[in-house]
Amino acid sequence: MKTCENCSGITACPLCGTAISYFEHLGVRGTVSTLKIPIIGYNLKYDSQRSGVWHYARPCGHRFSVRQGTPALKYNGGPLWQNGFTWVNVFWGKYYAAGTSATWISDVDRATRDIESNTSYSGGLKQYNVGMGTFGGHAIIQEDPASTISNSEIAKALAGWISSGMVDNIGQKGAYNIFLPPGVTALLSNEQSCAVFCDYHDTANGTAGPFYTVEPYPCQQGCNQCTSNPFDTLTSGLSEEMVELKTDMDPGTGWVIGNEELCDYCDTNYICRQLSTGEYVNAWYDKEAGKCWDGS
Ligand SMILES: [Zn+2]
Ligand SMILES: [Zn+2]
Repeated sequence: MKTCENCSGITACPLCGTAISYFEHLGVRGTVSTLKIPIIGYNLKYDSQRSGVWHYARPCGHRFSVRQGTPALKYNGGPLWQNGFTWVNVFWGKYYAAGTSATWISDVDRATRDIESNTSYSGGLKQYNVGMGTFGGHAIIQEDPASTISNSEIAKALAGWISSGMVDNIGQKGAYNIFLPPGVTALLSNEQSCAVFCDYHDTANGTAGPFYTVEPYPCQQGCNQCTSNPFDTLTSGLSEEMVELKTDMDPGTGWVIGNEELCDYCDTNYICRQLSTGEYVNAWYDKEAGKCWDGS
């Protein structure tokens, strides 16, 4: 999207003064820092990088917090996930092609299926006119990505895999989860995964898609570590990006609360939740219940 109500009317970058031709909008889960207060032994968590619809000014590339607008729940008319849409997982790199990754891949695939088919967690999004889809399998890309890779390079790679048939073409009726291998850093402008953000979702070309989430290999801190198992960190982030992609496929055009998407809202005062099948997930805002999803 080019502008939303949060950025309309901003014509110059407040950081460098460059005229803005457009804003890049991405649905991003920011990192959280823990401030230790040793005297009382209490760990205070604070949002060092608040999750939401992040705005990068183009061409300068600076990110800045735009006004929150009216922090009310709102649907902006953009595409939403429908019944029967498909998730395709894409595991990128030789790391995933190795036999030692087979268990990890099957666990991630199962979690993707469990998240999408959970009648409470995924089915509850019906209140937003969002449907339930299916899991359509995975592809393993046998070439390694560069050790640092930008969002536009990721989008370009995805388009290439689709056109060459390495990855199923699901058009606009679904989305791709792109999993990066250990040691690879994603970049949004010059901001690095794990340092500034955990994961995100985007579209390569607005409402035309393809739509995708990007999951760097689980960060060691700052990204909802509910347990010491990196897999649990991955599913909590993956679930958030799946829900936010479904409810806001072209970031900022779907369901938002001010400048936040439905799970971002629940990242403040984050509580670890699990599906009945065991996966750790991030809660989304349940407007019918007037609270963040808690599995009840
Ligand atoms: Zn905007
Ligand atoms: Zn700037």
